[in-house]
Amino acid sequence: MIRSFRLRLTVWYVGCFAALFALLTAGLYGVLSRALTSRLDESLLSQAATASALFQDEMEETQNDPARSATEAVSNMRLRAGKVAVLDGARVLAASGPFDAAAAVRQMSAGARLAGARESAYSIPGARAAVYRFNCHGRAYVAVAAEPLDAIDADLAAIRRAMFLAFPLILAIAGAGGYWFATRGMAPLDAMAAQARRITGSNLDARLEIGDAAGELTALAESFNELLGRLDQSFDNMRRFVADASHELRTPVAVIRGEADVTLAKERTAAEYKESLAIILDESRRLSRLVDDLLNLARADAGRVKLQAQEFYWNDLLSECCRSVQSLAVARQIELECRCAADTPFSGDEELLRRMTLNLLDNAIRYTPPGGKVLAELEAGAEGVRIRISDTGIGIGADAAAHVFERFFRADKARSRGNGGFGLGLAIVKWIAESHRGAVELASRPGAGSTFTVTFPR
Ligand code: ADP
Repeated sequence: MIRSFRLRLTVWYVGCFAALFALLTAGLYGVLSRALTSRLDESLLSQAATASALFQDEMEETQNDPARSATEAVSNMRLRAGKVAVLDGARVLAASGPFDAAAAVRQMSAGARLAGARESAYSIPGARAAVYRFNCHGRAYVAVAAEPLDAIDADLAAIRRAMFLAFPLILAIAGAGGYWFATRGMAPLDAMAAQARRITGSNLDARLEIGDAAGELTALAESFNELLGRLDQSFDNMRRFVADASHELRTPVAVIRGEADVTLAKERTAAEYKESLAIILDESRRLSRLVDDLLNLARADAGRVKLQAQEFYWNDLLSECCRSVQSLAVARQIELECRCAADTPFSGDEELLRRMTLNLLDNAIRYTPPGGKVLAELEAGAEGVRIRISDTGIGIGADAAAHVFERFFRADKARSRGNGGFGLGLAIVKWIAESHRGAVELASRPGAGSTFTVTFPR
């Protein structure tokens, strides 16, 4: 197996070229050999016709003496390599040289196809022969001319020799040319590879220079650049995620440490220790919630969360969720209403979907001032399930609405942090909805309230 693409390309090219060249030369050789034979045939036929004409002239002069006329006619022919003969039926009247003309005619007559032809040419061992039939004074005669194939064979052998000599030379030239073209064609690819090799995690914003490469290579470079763009984007997201996560982790850790430092600085009363521990516990809870969320998102990014799908009823799930946030709603003086009719079973990861619903309910309560209202509705049909959580809270401006599903995004940082949020809740909602082939939408008006709608196909 040849590893170099350029070499492989060249080998293919040379292989195809050799096959084509061999085919072409074989064809040409065939045509040439046929042309040489037919030229010889023409000359032989004309010799036979001349012999017949001479014979008929002599017959006039010798007053019908076939043997003498034939001898005269044959001796009057000026021949180089060939031989002629005149026959009366199968009897040779005269022949130039020791030439078995009768056998040649017999051989021709054996081919029934040629038996009746007036003139014809054919091969006899080592030679070509032509016969010419004619009548003279009421009798049928045959004039035969034959010539060895030596001259043609010599010509063809010379051509064969030339071809065999030319073949490797032409292949060598084709190979060198093919390799040169392949190298030239691959040059932009080499350049791209060199550029790509220089791209690392720290310069993902670099792009391949496309230049004036051929169409396919341009497409390749463009795809590669698009890939780099996507990688750059995810690297950026990841970096931001890590930076945001460390930033978020710092606050509770600093609070815990500070609290412990201050408390341990001097002797405290039992009540003071208790208060301190309560603060530390509170921050630890926040911290562990944050770590849980981060872990979940990281797992989701790595595609390592396997949905534990099971059948459940959405109306049960939604009313359970409402019940669990009821005390929070009461504490904040918010009216919580849950509207859910009877439902058909739905298949999904109940735990994750509970988490999603709780996040939405939790937000609705947290971002609604006392006296407001939160409504959880379920619409279940044959085509899908729709969960709508609406509130009469502070609402979300159009600018912020475009980003609420991003990680660590908080429309109002101070307020959200005060509420205990990290800006991860809606990112998790979106991920859970999408991992169930669902979608989440937000409709909101600042000051009037927000409605989050999650839809799942059945
Ligand atoms: P957080 O933990 O900060 O609440 P989320 O991802 O749940 O993070 O929400 C992101 C931001 O979207 C919040 O900081 C808040 O500004 C806004 N938000 C979410 N839900 C609501 C809502 N029901 N009403 C008003 N604003 C909301």
